[in-house]
Amino acid sequence: MRILITGGAGFLGSNLAELLIARGDSVIVIDDLSTGRKQNLQGVVANENFTFVEADVCEPYYFEVDQIYNLACPASPPYYQRDPIKTTMTCVLGMKHALDLAQQTGATVLQASTSEVYGDPARHPQNESYRGNVNPIGPRSCYDEGKRVAESLCFDYQRHHGTKIKVARIFNTYGPKMRADDGRVISNMIVAALNSEPLTVYGDGSQTRSFCYVDDLLGGLTAVMNDTLTSGPYNVGNPDERTVLDVAEIIRQCLDGALTITHLDLPVDDPRQRCPDITRLSNETGWIPTRDFAAGLGETITYFEQKIG
Ligand code: NAD
Ligand code: UDP
Repeated sequence: MRILITGGAGFLGSNLAELLIARGDSVIVIDDLSTGRKQNLQGVVANENFTFVEADVCEPYYFEVDQIYNLACPASPPYYQRDPIKTTMTCVLGMKHALDLAQQTGATVLQASTSEVYGDPARHPQNESYRGNVNPIGPRSCYDEGKRVAESLCFDYQRHHGTKIKVARIFNTYGPKMRADDGRVISNMIVAALNSEPLTVYGDGSQTRSFCYVDDLLGGLTAVMNDTLTSGPYNVGNPDERTVLDVAEIIRQCLDGALTITHLDLPVDDPRQRCPDITRLSNETGWIPTRDFAAGLGETITYFEQKIG
């Protein structure tokens, strides 16, 4: 297979590139290196089946490929809110260009959508038929609404042009190759703990998230790409739901029980609860995440220990 990964120098994309190269595929990565790093690709860059192209997906591009994973977009709230107009444009124009390429080449394009399409959900856990509760004018909307438009574009290209599309709604994922300054909760807390600094909990920490280890997530994502499946959307994540305070406590116990926890303001529109219903993908493929939280955290801690010495 010839496979294009947009955003392939980022956390998920670089792990995916390693997986696909190991499987024997040819991989092209397009990335503007805004949040991703070439260093993430050091395990594949010398492989003859790997090509890196530094480019912005807001501009059109052309490669002969069989599959496209459209991952280009900053995923961490501090990064996607830094230049929110660019974030919306990356979601929308980046999606359009990936769909145009899929249409021209006959490739299948998989959109890396997000649990954020459900906003601050009024239904719990969230299944794919829930239409969400998104604030269209808040600081998270550049990402949430950008991703919703991207999904809409996918299904309109399918209805009007017959383009082969797949939509995966990814829930909170963590693991090696995250940035130390990424700003998401798992990396923030591990890095703080390794630096003997207080762990930051936003608000009272009673809000919940459900965390999936990256290898499990990629198993789900590649399953969605399978021709035998529908276009989705499919939730991909781990229903192992925890409060943020619980996460801080576990990380503290793993690294240093003497560390303190400091409470900071809860960001505007921070979702109160989030947990995927993964019945659809599990029933159709048998896929379920298997890595337990303590084991996944252990792998991630080892990665950051090596990275920040
Ligand atoms: P990331 O920020 O590590 O990776 C995103 C990559 O896209 C980076 O390498 C960045 O440089 C690149 N990029 C951004 N804008 C670009 C542009 N205009 N042109 C070219 N490249 C561009 O984030 P991630 O965690 O790897 O997430 C990857 C995808 O998965 C994103 O689309 C994100 O919305 C989605 N997702 C991730 C999670 C998660 O928990 N990690 C959850 C839901 C959805
Ligand atoms: N959060 C926190 N401390 C941090 C970073 C994040 O308490 O250092 C909280 C954040 O407010 C949210 C949850 O952890 O409630 C998950 O945040 P993250 O940015 O990882 O993901 P998202 O909010 O996009 O799901």
